[in-house]
Amino acid sequence: MTFVVEKELMADCLFCKIIRGEIPSKKAYEDDKVYAFHDIRPGAPKHILIIPKKHISGVNTASAEDAGIIGYSHLVAAKLAREHNIEESGYRTVYNVGPDSGQSVFHLHLHLLGGRRMAWPPG
Ligand code: AMP
Ligand code: ZN
Repeated sequence: MTFVVEKELMADCLFCKIIRGEIPSKKAYEDDKVYAFHDIRPGAPKHILIIPKKHISGVNTASAEDAGIIGYSHLVAAKLAREHNIEESGYRTVYNVGPDSGQSVFHLHLHLLGGRRMAWPPG
């Protein structure tokens, strides 16, 4: 039953469709575990989303077996920051979780933002 529900979620999920190439995206990086692409509405000069190829709806539903991909996504963010010349100027990585954060897509995605001075606390 859980498997069936998960299959249905993956069929409808925007980011699963991007991974399958059914919706176009501007690829920044890909390997067997993650896909990274430029955000369609960038909130900074550099704004890349790093997503697991496995459908996970968000941090709240991630399980212990997802710990590796959560850590690995940050290493990919650091690699992309280096490649996009924001390693030294600095950058921010963010998981939005739930309504107060403004999370709008329910497939785990790590935001990598940089290329401008970030405000703190975030708005
Ligand atoms: P969040 O609000 O944390 O759920 O982030 C979702 C992000 O996905 C937003 O920054 C959107 O601009 C971005 N987004 C939505 N649709 C697309 C798309 N088709 N291609 C690239 N980025 C997208
Ligand atoms: Zn998905």
